Amino acid sequence: MIPLVDLKIQYEQIKADIDAAISRVIGNTSFILGEEVKSFETAFAQFCQAEYGIGTSSCTAALQLALLACGVGPGDEVITTPLTFIATTEAISHVGARPVFVDIDPLTYNIDVYRIEAAITDRTKAILPVHLYGQPAELDAILEIAKKYHLKVVEDAAQAHAAEYKGRRVGSIGDVACFSFYPGKNLGAYGDGGMVVTNDVEIAEQVRLLRNHGRREKYEHLIEGFSYRLDALHAAILNVKLSYLEQWTAARRQHAHLYNDLLAEAPVATPQEMTGGRHVYHLYVINNLKNRAAVQQKLKAQGVASGIHYPIPLHLQPAYAHLGHQPGDFSQAETASQQILSLPMFPELTDKQIHTVAQTLKDSL
Ligand SMILES: *Cc1c(COP(=O)(O)O)cnc(C)c1O
Repeated sequence: MIPLVDLKIQYEQIKADIDAAISRVIGNTSFILGEEVKSFETAFAQFCQAEYGIGTSSCTAALQLALLACGVGPGDEVITTPLTFIATTEAISHVGARPVFVDIDPLTYNIDVYRIEAAITDRTKAILPVHLYGQPAELDAILEIAKKYHLKVVEDAAQAHAAEYKGRRVGSIGDVACFSFYPGKNLGAYGDGGMVVTNDVEIAEQVRLLRNHGRREKYEHLIEGFSYRLDALHAAILNVKLSYLEQWTAARRQHAHLYNDLLAEAPVATPQEMTGGRHVYHLYVINNLKNRAAVQQKLKAQGVASGIHYPIPLHLQPAYAHLGHQPGDFSQAETASQQILSLPMFPELTDKQIHTVAQTLKDSL
């Protein structure tokens, strides 16, 4: 069986360092914040070419805190994409604001920047682009619109560690970017974790307060906050893994290029990397599968796992029935959700496995 993602091979390759880091944290019995978290925050912010990193319990928590720190609250609207994981919009709703969807660009699967302005109202407070599958959204256009209408740009970078836009790392470009360290992400902890990355000192200070009960000193609470901290154990693990992230990213990109070559003549659309961008292939997603269910079934029968990210766009989810959307409202996102397929992608994938996946797929089509 060739899985979508294999976390075990990676652990086996770096086991000694990981085990030593875990032992160190447990030996010090320093589990909450402290040096381990601080050191990883500094290292990851630097990796993103940004000033500040604030570890959080997840990316969902990071997005919520980033929106709060940007002053987004009840009655406000936040513009985002319907083709993403629900965490993106949960964060918007959980600060009391309303998600406003804008359709995707079918070439990149990211928010269609030409449709953003039409969705702006007096209540719009922020734009929340998602760098889907690891490819940066069109940040120049988004930042230009944000400047014109005085909006904040909060990026969902859960799938985009080490992604670049016009030579700059994601995390250093918009007002604030939020990363996930969920185990299967490009940089994954051994449990949940996330980070807010920003160059804005005020956002950084506010998020730092909010993630830890609004306190600077142990029992002095400047505001009410949350218990949204990154665990020291995860920080120590992530610090070990961070030193491999560049090489793992290069491997993902190589795998994607090999898939592209092998599938060049197949009747599917392969991912398009935008010029000036660096796609980090959290997921390798093909498109135009008119008969997806059958293809997936045949792949599975031949021992090749596949996935769908995502099968139901958010505007058609039961959770958002109250927003009153109908099928057809965001037709590009809907068509993609019906015809996309994610193939196995992780750094340790071998060329032989990629050949097998590509051949099995071609036979299945
Ligand atoms: C994984 C993911 C999230 C949520 O991250 P958590 O750390 O699990 O909260 C949010 N947005 C996108 C696009 C994701 O892929």
